[in-house]
Amino acid sequence: MKLATALVHAGTRRDPTTGAVAVPIYHSATYQHPALGQSTGYDYSRTKNPTRAALEDALAGLEGGSRGLAFSSGMAALHCALQLLGPEDHLVLTEDLYGGTFRLVDKLLHIPHTFVDTTRLDAVRAALRPNTKALLVESPTNPLMKTADLSALADVARKAGALLIVDNTFNTPFLQRPLELGADIVVHSATKYLAGHNDVVAGALVVKDAAVGERLAFVQNGIGAILGPQDSYLVIRGLKTLALRMERHQSNAREVAAFLSSHPQVERVYYPGTGGMLSFDVTDAALVPQVLAAVRICLFAESLGGVETLITFPATQTHADIPVARREQLGITDRLLRLSVGIEDCHDIISDLAQALEGRSQPVELRHPTAAHGS
Ligand SMILES: *Cc1c(COP(=O)(O)O)cnc(C)c1O
Repeated sequence: MKLATALVHAGTRRDPTTGAVAVPIYHSATYQHPALGQSTGYDYSRTKNPTRAALEDALAGLEGGSRGLAFSSGMAALHCALQLLGPEDHLVLTEDLYGGTFRLVDKLLHIPHTFVDTTRLDAVRAALRPNTKALLVESPTNPLMKTADLSALADVARKAGALLIVDNTFNTPFLQRPLELGADIVVHSATKYLAGHNDVVAGALVVKDAAVGERLAFVQNGIGAILGPQDSYLVIRGLKTLALRMERHQSNAREVAAFLSSHPQVERVYYPGTGGMLSFDVTDAALVPQVLAAVRICLFAESLGGVETLITFPATQTHADIPVARREQLGITDRLLRLSVGIEDCHDIISDLAQALEGRSQPVELRHPTAAHGS
């Protein structure tokens, strides 16, 4: 089955009793036992719930893993994965990654860690220590959209006896399947593209190795940050249109990147060429509040990956927990804006950005007619 087909069929054929096409939402917290020492396979919903299991199985298939686990948020998923590290273990991680991941590692779990530019293999090798247990990588990075060679990183990790954990939130399995490139664990904020409609907060892990999967399921059940059945349903529903959405996010993002690249008020555009995320530096910090106040279609909000175009100011929103000096050094400046390009008609997005950058309140003529680019 091709990925687009597997996506559409996420959660189907799960209910032999009724033949329901849409996966039923099982709100049952507990399950009757047929007899002493027997189980239907479901005992208590923290451990296993049929709607969540439908999502977990779908995710495992989509990422090419042996097991999927669904969590109440992306952070809960990351927290669970990081429980694989013991108190003496060291972590190497991408320097410009999601601000919440920095907060979790540095301020909450106090894991000994080293931030590196994971697009540079020499830097990664230099950061390894004998007690390095894992490499935690985002590619593309957030918010500067740098892409790493995951196969090469998997090689480095394997030789060092470390796990490669990849946060695949930005690319999704539609664009990148890290387990096939040699990674051990994939992390998702399913809040973003997987669910895709800005209506649910969810997270996921998918693992290659069954024993690691067993360990993580033990941790998940023990700590309890599971995804509820209603929210599991919403993620499954989102998955069904992921392929269509990603194609549109990407074609729109390419046009928006082209528009911004030639705009006089834009100094630099960070777009890796694939996916729906891009960032850009405006020429003057004073343009930031102007743009955020003037956008009419793009919504000034954090998060990403939903059908609506969102514009974010990373310095004070997604990356506020990173110290100022470090942010500046990484290029997360007070002139940087991030766009999660939605699936609207891209001319409306471009026209909205044009009027916001130029400080005009009325929509302007389109600069890039559809016909010139196609989608
Ligand atoms: C949003 C995000 C997270 C955190 O996920 P939540 O669902 O908000 O907890 C982790 N990693 C990346 C790359 C994200 O964008």
